[in-house]
Amino acid sequence: MWILSPVAATLALLVVVSTPAAAAKVEAVGGAIAYGQPDSSSLTSQVEAMVSKADGSGYWMATQTGTVANFGQALHFGDMSGTQLNQPIVGMAATPTGNGYWLVAADGGIFAFGDARFFGSTGHMKLNSPIVGMATSFDNGYWLVAADGGVFAFGAARFYGSMGAVTLNRPIVAMLPSDSGRGYWLLAEDGGIFTFGDAGFFGSGPGKGYGGLFVGMIPVTDGRGYSLVHSDGRISPFGISTLHNDPVCDPWPVTDMSIAGGGAVLLRTAKPQPNDPPSNLSARIDGDYLSELIVLSQSCQTASEPVFPQFSLPLSDPVPTSLFGWRRHPIWGDISMHNGSDFIGPNRTSGGSALAVANGTVLAVLDLVAYGRTVVLDHGDQVASVYAHLGGVNVKVGDVTSVGDALGPVGSTGLSTGVHLHFELRLNGNAKDPIPYLNFPEPPVSAE
Ligand SMILES: [Zn+2]
Repeated sequence: MWILSPVAATLALLVVVSTPAAAAKVEAVGGAIAYGQPDSSSLTSQVEAMVSKADGSGYWMATQTGTVANFGQALHFGDMSGTQLNQPIVGMAATPTGNGYWLVAADGGIFAFGDARFFGSTGHMKLNSPIVGMATSFDNGYWLVAADGGVFAFGAARFYGSMGAVTLNRPIVAMLPSDSGRGYWLLAEDGGIFTFGDAGFFGSGPGKGYGGLFVGMIPVTDGRGYSLVHSDGRISPFGISTLHNDPVCDPWPVTDMSIAGGGAVLLRTAKPQPNDPPSNLSARIDGDYLSELIVLSQSCQTASEPVFPQFSLPLSDPVPTSLFGWRRHPIWGDISMHNGSDFIGPNRTSGGSALAVANGTVLAVLDLVAYGRTVVLDHGDQVASVYAHLGGVNVKVGDVTSVGDALGPVGSTGLSTGVHLHFELRLNGNAKDPIPYLNFPEPPVSAE
């Protein structure tokens, strides 16, 4: 049987073991142990899934291309490296003995290793939405779950219902069997919980007013509660569960997790920078990427509303050329949201260097499709500023900057019609009209 150690009454103990160069990193909570970090040189594609031995004595990670890395007392039983897969690996599950594991691909193709046996797959079915996870309580069966909430049961795993016929607001991201194996929970991205069989309901993310993304859940042994795991590492208890954790300021989201010992091991993977072909969607894709990066990096901070006008100017003598808000896009011609204000120098000059509007630290240096070369500063209190289309960058991530520091020459990189500074002020990751917050000596006059 699938066995869980008691989770209740375990004080969440956080151990962060991070290697900046690694493809992924592991964080242990609630008494679980981090046995090691994946080595970026040996893992050539994105780490996608992880699973622990039931007793917490080790874990495995699988990459999108099916390479498996093993840690602690988890042994390597084989993998798909060197084999061309039709679809990327999206999940994995371990047998109750810990002497084998399954990998599952987005089309539901199953690959079994060690004492894991093959009981069927959706690899030959036409699926409405991709498989996102796999779960088991048995050594002779498993379930697959699709993003639309469809559940597929194989071998001794029984079907207790699914959300496949219901239109969900947000996709399903995880499935967890009850301790008895006679039921399961489905978890949606927004923290929504759907219960089947003997799995009980003790509350959900939206019910508690939690925003953001959720990645997994940790049930208590007797099934009378669970804790939900948020992508920023926050853990929220429901029912009799007491396992909780405060978010850490880490730019890498938690993308998967597995129950181990009395707690869980969280997997963080860097989100790749967007590199879609340039289009009228690029600015929004880059903006969403920045938003998530800033929210995660500032998740341990407490929000505080800045006062007007708190910030110094991002350019000496800035002349606004395009303001914050809905506008006709200068390249694509469609009506779209402009997340910041554009500035040039006097008399149509570049204005020189982009200047830090307040003391802070460099949160990110990026090269984005629409924004071009971009610097993001963290000012604390969940306030950040963004400087885009730079011609060059003078700073690196982690640098402490003072108000007025030159961050890099104003340029025209990314999707830009001419040399200018695109400046954003972000509060809790959300772009705000920066003009009222900037300390102009007199009201700015637009060049248009
Ligand atoms: Zn702009």
